[in-house]
Amino acid sequence: EAVATGKISGNGMFTKKCQQHLQKLTRTTKSLLTTSCTDALEMAAILIGIEPGDEVIMPSFTFVSTANAFMLRGAKVVFVDSRPDHPGMDEQAIEPLITERTKAVVCVHYAGVACDMNILKELTDKHGLFLIEDAAQAIDSYYTRPDGSKSALGSIGHLGAFSFHETKNIQCGEGGALLINDERFVARAEIIWEKGTNRTAFWRGEVDKYGWVDIGSSFLPSELSAAFLFAQLESLSEIQNRRSAIWNRYIAGLQPIFQTLTSRLPKIPTGATNNAHMFYLVCSSEQERTDLIAHLKSENIHAVFHYQSLHASPYFKEKHDNRELHWSDTYSKCLVRLPLHLHLTDEDVDRIIASINAFYTNN
Ligand SMILES: *Cc1c(COP(=O)(O)O)cnc(C)c1O
Repeated sequence: EAVATGKISGNGMFTKKCQQHLQKLTRTTKSLLTTSCTDALEMAAILIGIEPGDEVIMPSFTFVSTANAFMLRGAKVVFVDSRPDHPGMDEQAIEPLITERTKAVVCVHYAGVACDMNILKELTDKHGLFLIEDAAQAIDSYYTRPDGSKSALGSIGHLGAFSFHETKNIQCGEGGALLINDERFVARAEIIWEKGTNRTAFWRGEVDKYGWVDIGSSFLPSELSAAFLFAQLESLSEIQNRRSAIWNRYIAGLQPIFQTLTSRLPKIPTGATNNAHMFYLVCSSEQERTDLIAHLKSENIHAVFHYQSLHASPYFKEKHDNRELHWSDTYSKCLVRLPLHLHLTDEDVDRIIASINAFYTNN
């Protein structure tokens, strides 16, 4: 349909349909489709006015884009450790890192599982900081506050970023969205999105010509991507049902043997939901993980590890302040992800479970 209408550049009908769909799903003020979650995070860094020397606190156990988006604006990134019981950031470890230069906290909902947003909201409000959600993996996942009210991830901080990269639950090859949860950013976000011009206001007939009014970039995707994504959004519940069924099959099949081990199954903390983005195990040592991956590989099962702590990366290690981030390093060494995609059959999942059970029974 996008091709047939002859309009395949950005901000057309499918872009608007996706944005409306996302706004309804997350109950937020405004969303803008972007060419990636990385771009949405870069927009967030511009919108909150990051300047050289500003400090931004974020987890070390995350994807490089979380950090790059802010470093591109000159921010000093301060990494925080993961939780002992979950790879997400340790909400309790943030406050001691806040200085008078701190401008924002960026939380990452690892595996689509919510950080404790109640703690993060109180903390950032108390210190007058921006709260940005890297919700790349968190489509259709929610946080329930202690008072029982529930919000979509990505819609709680000032700004939130989704990814629609092909490795995520719904995708369009490369794509993302920025959720603008605070009215005061909406007008400027549209300008930054359209290369620093007021073209979006022009299309709405609000100005009689458009021009260069601010900094910006080409953050909007083509209608081909938007059309692909819209079809994915229409199938969201179907996709989510199948992913959840696979996730639940894994947990049921692995729970008995894991009760006897120090290695761990994923935990969904209080207040969080599980959007079945990822199924991972936390082995009790790096050697155990290496052996498990090799064992699975010998049976043609592709299991992979995940992030390597950013504070210890070749690019950042000289910039890090020497604090030990024990849990981030532990997940870097011990976490392994199992296959989870729509083409997996129940028989595939059962075979993977049997292979893991055999590994632990014989070791
Ligand atoms: C996938 C991912 C990103 C990057 O998303 P892109 O759409 O590829 O830019 C950023 N942060 C996290 C936590 C991710 O999982």
